[in-house]
Amino acid sequence: MPEKVIIIGSGPAAWAAAIYSARAALKPLVLEGAISEENRLAGTLPLGQLALTTEVENYPGFPCGDLTAYLASSLDEKKRQFMAPHNKEGVSGPELMELMRQQAVNFGTRVITEGVVDVDFSAKPFRLTATDGNTYESHAVIVATGARANYLGLPSEEQYKNRGVSACAVCDGALPRFRNKPLAVIGGGDSAVEEADYLTKFASVVYLVHRRHELRASKIMSQRAEANPKIEILWNRGLAEVLGSDKDGVTGVRLASTVGEPDLQKDVTGVFLAIGHTPNTAFLKGKLALTEKKYLKWTTPSRTYTSIEGVFAAGDVADDYYRQAVTAAGSGCMAALDAERWLAAKGL
Ligand SMILES: Cc1cc2nc3c(=O)[nH]c(=O)nc-3n(C[C@H](O)[C@H](O)[C@H](O)COP(=O)(O)OP(=O)(O)OC[C@H]3O[C@@H](n4cnc5c(N)ncnc54)[C@H](O)[C@@H]3O)c2cc1C
Repeated sequence: MPEKVIIIGSGPAAWAAAIYSARAALKPLVLEGAISEENRLAGTLPLGQLALTTEVENYPGFPCGDLTAYLASSLDEKKRQFMAPHNKEGVSGPELMELMRQQAVNFGTRVITEGVVDVDFSAKPFRLTATDGNTYESHAVIVATGARANYLGLPSEEQYKNRGVSACAVCDGALPRFRNKPLAVIGGGDSAVEEADYLTKFASVVYLVHRRHELRASKIMSQRAEANPKIEILWNRGLAEVLGSDKDGVTGVRLASTVGEPDLQKDVTGVFLAIGHTPNTAFLKGKLALTEKKYLKWTTPSRTYTSIEGVFAAGDVADDYYRQAVTAAGSGCMAALDAERWLAAKGL
């Protein structure tokens, strides 16, 4: 028997879709991704991008406070003991994701810890092939495989992730370690300028580090950056090393020159990588329409429909603009409602 709905992914979009479809009696099956070295290196282990971060201060419903008792009432001891300790003020990314997953399971969602490597949307029911070689059939599919932030791949960058190295100014900019301190943004496109601009709310100065002698950002964004007294653009420079210590996290950056000048060192408490995101769409191999940036294309305004009827998309995999946990969860809810109505209309 084909499933009514299979959800691919394991971030906020996938769990929100699972909670809504489970409560609509669709008995969803979630393929949450595999626990593999490849996924560890790519930053795509199950539970998504939030599982890679520390405090989450902007997800509604989780104000600062000691959540110990709440977590104890929601998650079993085994799950809790593997989570990194944090300051108990508010929720951490991994905790929030475990809570979302648990909420979906509480309503009867079945979860398989394998990824999807191939899809056949050419006939109905749809057929999915997983990393363990098993195949699954389903009338409706919700793709919620997210995206991943691009990093340069420097060992020092890896060493200081969550200790001053970030790929999301909106997520992390307001954290205390970045307040009234010099920060660096690496990149030169529109999102780098946006990140730099946003960080000027908190930083004493933002160094915008760009490899070339002019920004790739649009004219209007470039002018905004150049006119902002708190942004100092460091032209023809690339990040060579993040400097820091175990005690303090990031304390500076060493910047190489792209035009033969000596290295330059700057004291900063934060480094924000703004060199783009990669949506997790490679496994779809052209079987769904993508945008120019390879995100899934929503084909109808205010709906989660894709180019194939019965396949829906939710979260960052289809959204290169908002990229927040709450917006991903919101579109996960929308995808579940869209799938439920589509199945009902088809009598499935
Ligand atoms: C370091 C960091 C900090 C952040 N902090 C915040 C914050 O404080 N607040 C906030 O709102 N947002 C934050 N964000 C952004 C937020 O994490 C994302 O917007 C959100 O997680 C997107 O959710 P999603 O469900 O679309 O997918 P994701 O969270 O990207 O999860 C998708 C997951 O699906 C799985 N998957 C991928 N491919 C497959 C496949 N083929 N088969 C099966 N499974 C697959 C993988 O496990 C993947 O990680 C942060 C992001 C990062 C990187």
